[in-house]
Amino acid sequence: ATPMSIMVASGRGARMGVLFRNAEAIEVLQSVDTLVVDKTGTLTEGRPGLTSIEAVASLDEGELLSVLASLERASEHPLAEAIVRAADERGLEIRPIEDFESLTGEGVTGRLDGRAVALGNRRLMARLEVDIDALETHAEALRRKGETAMFAALDGQAAGLIGVSDPIKASTREAIEALKSEGLRIVMLTGDSETTARAVASELGIREVLAEVAPEDKDEQIQRLQASGRTVAMAGDGINDAPALARAEVGIAMGTGTDVAMEAAGVTLIKGDLRGIVRARRLSRATLGNIR
Ligand code: ADP
Ligand code: MG
Repeated sequence: ATPMSIMVASGRGARMGVLFRNAEAIEVLQSVDTLVVDKTGTLTEGRPGLTSIEAVASLDEGELLSVLASLERASEHPLAEAIVRAADERGLEIRPIEDFESLTGEGVTGRLDGRAVALGNRRLMARLEVDIDALETHAEALRRKGETAMFAALDGQAAGLIGVSDPIKASTREAIEALKSEGLRIVMLTGDSETTARAVASELGIREVLAEVAPEDKDEQIQRLQASGRTVAMAGDGINDAPALARAEVGIAMGTGTDVAMEAAGVTLIKGDLRGIVRARRLSRATLGNIR
């Protein structure tokens, strides 16, 4: 493409909320055959809300939520925000936590009044050797609705189950349909559970799902797809997505996400609207069309 056509495409992109880092990002987009998309914050709003809380130990629901919000206050994860917001809305007390630890892709642990507290997924409960068998049926029912299930533990015993739901962005369905009709293969990539991921994917007509992927393994999944001969664009918003965004032929960051993701990407969708990918590819084709 000529420098002039690149400049024109950049200007048009900017007016549509699509920022290109460089000429390469514009040129490569039309050649990708696979789009890998992060779930939370990319396909979904990234602002989960608490939908249910079930307490199974000595604490009632309010007391449990107060303890869990105290724990999650120190975490920056969107799931943590959902817990803290729910406790705030109910006017629950937030208390100081000791020995706070965040286990990436698993959950959080700490101590409150000398009691060990934990909140996270199955993997965290397995690590802490907490028996969650009695909660698993209910958890799976939440996941089948596309919700994220989190287990709470107190002093090494199961204490409850939390359900959190993160709505799909209004623009996502149309974007995915358009990209699929262009023949692009869409792959969902997420740290969330297989069942939750599949439920959200099926609502969007996405058939390929890579779930329960640890944050540090996301870029390896991109490499694998590339090794199988696919040319990959990756869309994401989180710090965890940055290595995968950098690894892909083109990284596409949400302007609503983290700076780290935007710095790693060749394209930024200012409002996080995935329909920007359709527009960006149109610009990419038009730009390269100019030299033929
Ligand atoms: P995603 O790819 O959806 O952003 P992450 O890799 O950040 O997911 O997290 C994967 C899973 O780990 C979450 O679905 C959740 O079950 C658990 N988890 C991570 N952080 C927290 C937290 N602060 N509190 C509770 N659970 C968490
Ligand atoms: Mg995300």
